[in-house]
Amino acid sequence: MLSKILIANRGEIALRVLRACKELGISTVAVHSTADADAMHVRLADESVCIGPPPSRDSYLNIHQIVAACEITGADAVHPGYGFLSENAKFAEILEAHGITFIGPTAEHIQIMGDKITAKKTAEALGIPVVPGSTGEVTTEEQASEIAADIGYPVIIKATAGGGGRGMKVANNQQELAVALATARTEAGAAFGNEAVYIEKYLGKPRHIEIQVMGDGQGEAVHLGERDCSLQRRHQKVWEEANSPALNEQQRHEIGMVCANAMKKLNYRGAGTIEFLYENGEFYFIEMNTRLQVEHPVTEAITGIDLVNEQIRIASGAGLSVAQSDVRFSGHAIECRINAEDAKTFVPSPGRITHYHPPGGLGVRVDSGVYHGYSIPPYYDSLIGKLIVHGRTRVECMMRLRRALDEFVIDGINTTIPLFIELLDNQDIANGDYDIHWLEKYLDS
Ligand code: ADP
Repeated sequence: MLSKILIANRGEIALRVLRACKELGISTVAVHSTADADAMHVRLADESVCIGPPPSRDSYLNIHQIVAACEITGADAVHPGYGFLSENAKFAEILEAHGITFIGPTAEHIQIMGDKITAKKTAEALGIPVVPGSTGEVTTEEQASEIAADIGYPVIIKATAGGGGRGMKVANNQQELAVALATARTEAGAAFGNEAVYIEKYLGKPRHIEIQVMGDGQGEAVHLGERDCSLQRRHQKVWEEANSPALNEQQRHEIGMVCANAMKKLNYRGAGTIEFLYENGEFYFIEMNTRLQVEHPVTEAITGIDLVNEQIRIASGAGLSVAQSDVRFSGHAIECRINAEDAKTFVPSPGRITHYHPPGGLGVRVDSGVYHGYSIPPYYDSLIGKLIVHGRTRVECMMRLRRALDEFVIDGINTTIPLFIELLDNQDIANGDYDIHWLEKYLDS
């Protein structure tokens, strides 16, 4: 087993990883910017190192400082959480070169999946169904219109280096295509330093369904079912649930095994998520995330498997704790992302929490780094916590969710809690009848 893990992240995910380490008896090192000196993960860690000023690029993204913090504290591994350096192949490589274990996949696999064109080609070769579209980069209007005519309008132009829902343009017809291509390329260049874009069929009413996978890096891999993340705003997930209201057991088994088998072939190591759009009974791969996801607790709730514990086991060389036949799905779970934002305008709302009371009781989990009197710094993502509720059925889960949301007190700042309370009154939500555009339309009306 690893003996000391440095957690290269902040907020609720740093705390999440810290909890798994504590249960395993592994020492923890927190790193933090000067803005996060009072953060809960810093308070609870065995040791902490300040790695720089507030801006992420000078602290949480500063590889040099993080490696130095490992050397100073003698950490033998790094857990990157999600975001920040979690999908940075260079970071994984540098750590390995220093004899420090990166808790995640190989740098090569991060690189393959980080470039969406390569990811799509790889997925297809591994037997995963993909969205119809270009087989590589598209540079000219002629090329674009040929492919678009072939797959049919509307089409979506996406940045190969894209992420966070940015760098995508839809073209409904030939006239719109040239402008969409040019703007997508320019925006991709500005946002990601890489102008390369590709084209795929734009699906009109898909759901976003993703499969959680876990591999030991030696040819063994399992799937842990799906999460339905269709409720999105600006391509960002807002509410996630498992199982998906749209899938039956047979479909779950089939797509799950496609993914698990693909990961076996790839010799994939660690946690990963294979994301699909799902429409008319068909799955279409869009990307793979080579890290722990924000929404991993819904999978933990229905499987009883601690994903971070599993990641650490695998990184230690102890392999998976479960075989596919050990994985059982029980009940239903929903996660609400609690953001420090106005629930109507989504304007960020940093500041001091004057009163904090999280809900509890059977089937209720709150993952958050905030506390009574804590001041949310204005420099980072507005996600301040996650409420995860589990019930034997989806109906029970929703009743419990309503109760937990009513109990949740976060005073002094605005949060997205009122939005979730409102959503629970909606008939489509009650029926599980929504696609990736549902929430945007709802918010517009
Ligand atoms: P990112 O890495 O930026 O999150 P993704 O490829 O995962 O990009 O896509 C993010 C979201 O964009 C999807 O969840 C979906 O809402 C929308 N999207 C992506 N590709 C398509 C497509 N081909 N058709 C319709 N919507 C899409």
